[in-house]
Amino acid sequence: MKDWNEECAVFGIWGDPEAGKMTYLGLYAQQHRGQESAGISTLMESGKQIHHKGTGLVGEVFSADVLDTLVGKAAIGHVRYSTTGGNSLHNIQPLTAGLLNGPVAMAHNGNIVNSKPLRKELKRLGAIFQGTNDTECLLHLLARHPSNNLITCLKESVLRLDGAYSLVLLAKDMMVAMRDPRGMRPLVLGQRSLETGGFAWVVASETCAFDLIGAKYIREIEPGEIWWVDDQGEHSERFQAPTSPLAQCVFEYVYFSRPDSKVFGRSVYETRKRMGEILAEEDPIQADLVIPVPDSGTPAAIGYSQKSGVPFELGIIRNHYIGRTFIQPSQSIRSFGVKIKLNPQAEILKGKRVVVVDDSLVRGTTSQKIIRLVRQAGAKEVHFRIASPPTTGPCYYGVDTPEREELIANQKSLEGIRQFIDADTLSYLSIEGMMRAVGASKVGFCAACFDGQYPTPV
Ligand code: AMP
Repeated sequence: MKDWNEECAVFGIWGDPEAGKMTYLGLYAQQHRGQESAGISTLMESGKQIHHKGTGLVGEVFSADVLDTLVGKAAIGHVRYSTTGGNSLHNIQPLTAGLLNGPVAMAHNGNIVNSKPLRKELKRLGAIFQGTNDTECLLHLLARHPSNNLITCLKESVLRLDGAYSLVLLAKDMMVAMRDPRGMRPLVLGQRSLETGGFAWVVASETCAFDLIGAKYIREIEPGEIWWVDDQGEHSERFQAPTSPLAQCVFEYVYFSRPDSKVFGRSVYETRKRMGEILAEEDPIQADLVIPVPDSGTPAAIGYSQKSGVPFELGIIRNHYIGRTFIQPSQSIRSFGVKIKLNPQAEILKGKRVVVVDDSLVRGTTSQKIIRLVRQAGAKEVHFRIASPPTTGPCYYGVDTPEREELIANQKSLEGIRQFIDADTLSYLSIEGMMRAVGASKVGFCAACFDGQYPTPV
């Protein structure tokens, strides 16, 4: 049972007079990583922290009046989508606590896979949990640690965690960023020049947040690194050696990250395009048009078209004013979603042999509806191409995926899936092709959702 799943983004900034507002923008840029709740904590000169969080999109949670109250020179923020834990305020991050050496606020992307036994152990020791999320375990571990030095507490406490964590923490006198030794979720470091001279330090899940606030990308927070900044400047240590191989999430490239981000040191857009190119090489087909399922399939469809020479068209137009249907919790909205969201263009599709490219195929229900719409618009043949391998395993590390039984590739053969979605032909990118596209032999990536090789016991 997967009941700890979360999709999230984190952001943090240190040394900027507009820290609260920059965090708002940093979350706005990363809204695609979580749409159910958002929160910001800021740090005032006095060491006092101010918090605001709520359910909804970033633009709904923070009004101009609220932003005016989020003063201070440093801030962290979080956006979140979670399958459980409800939308209780206690589960909305940043999580906050009053520790012996002052207040802390913490924002976490990823899942701690051993959080259940850890919670039980901590409860036995008297810990009172406020929410149902895995992140709270770390706060309790910090609270119980005997050291007065927060960095020591953090370095030693995270050794009790297994799984994925890209963390940003704000204390009374420092901001800290940490990434698990497998490097499962992204976390990047940057600098934002200030009008008054000097610069602010910035951390984010994705570089698209830096682009919006005019920050420069410096580097990734390394797997197993603890980085922090205080009034003396920046500091960095390794709390654990990086695992070999790393387990960076390949699905960040396939679907999750924004194409204009650089993730694990590579452009997501270029990587997705490459996936499309390799897809075209692996299973060529005679066709008149290549069209993407927008927006997730667009870079791969461009790559497919450029490699195959089959012209690219926007045969399906997307309404951008609704969220991603897949991650709306209600089934009724989800089934309505495809038609609300996607409108095939009959003038382009009529009488044509069409290659339709999407990034991934999970349950198959969306793809089935899309193919039906494309046929109704007059396409003569529909060849469905998926720019990733068959999804066969749920993710336990921070991407929301359906249970194993709901993944169509576990239920049906390739031919069975083709029949179910009613495509003339269907093919997926091979695992080798995907690994080639991400610029690596398999070393260094977690592709458990495609190959079942989980980097932790599950
Ligand atoms: P389906 O045909 O129902 O399997 O839906 C496939 C669509 O779901 C693809 O267009 C993907 O872009 C999208 N998708 C895949 N994984 C996720 C995810 N974790 N969250 C939201 N959408 C996803």
